[in-house]
Amino acid sequence: MRRDSEPADYVVCRHCRRKFRAIRALHLIRRHGYDAEHPVADYKRRFGLESASCREVRQRLREIREEFRTRQGPHWTRRILIAEIRRLFRSVPPKREAVRTREAGRRLFGSWEAAVRAAGFHYEEATGIRHWTAERIVRIIRERAAAGKPLHSTAVKRQFPALHRAAIRHFPSSWAKALRAAGFDPRDHRMTSCRWDQTSAESWMRQQVAKRRSILARDDPVDLQDFVRRKLGANWSGFVESLGIPYPDVKK
Ligand SMILES: [Zn+2]
Repeated sequence: MRRDSEPADYVVCRHCRRKFRAIRALHLIRRHGYDAEHPVADYKRRFGLESASCREVRQRLREIREEFRTRQGPHWTRRILIAEIRRLFRSVPPKREAVRTREAGRRLFGSWEAAVRAAGFHYEEATGIRHWTAERIVRIIRERAAAGKPLHSTAVKRQFPALHRAAIRHFPSSWAKALRAAGFDPRDHRMTSCRWDQTSAESWMRQQVAKRRSILARDDPVDLQDFVRRKLGANWSGFVESLGIPYPDVKK
């Protein structure tokens, strides 16, 4: 039978001449006594047919197969997946991955998280993290420290607000508590901590005296006074006097 002479929307049963969208197994078994095993295949073989369906049905089947392949996505390799993750995360705003993409990550890298890291992203930052736990917060704080990123509250709040929010929720209710849980002394991670230590505080004070500048609390840097009070546990005049400098008791 020549293909192009076939009507598009039906085929004719070679046994009974009835028209169908497709010659189906049930019809062949019931009407024509076919074996239940492979009736359609037997029918096609018997009449030398490539198909037992009309053109429309065949077209629809092709579409369904095509759709299925599309849903399956590309044939994933590690390289293709990494490229896809970068495309998603670098688009503005970042796009969420499809379920099949996550599955490819699990298959090729052991987990989606591992795949994201393999693509060069900090997982928690890149995904805006959905599942915070105390352990995870502690780990990220340590990662920041190892990477030389600032740990003081202000910087974290600015650079990684989700981490700061989660930390305060999991370590009610201060960033300092989260730092302590990660094994850091919050006093070492203030905005001013890099500026002052005992040596620099003392030498600053001696220079003030040498240059005959004011050493009154009201004139001196607030962050230094803060350092003295918190880190050295001294009030300002006590600190000045501990250096052998008489603190002026007369207001200038
Ligand atoms: Zn028939």
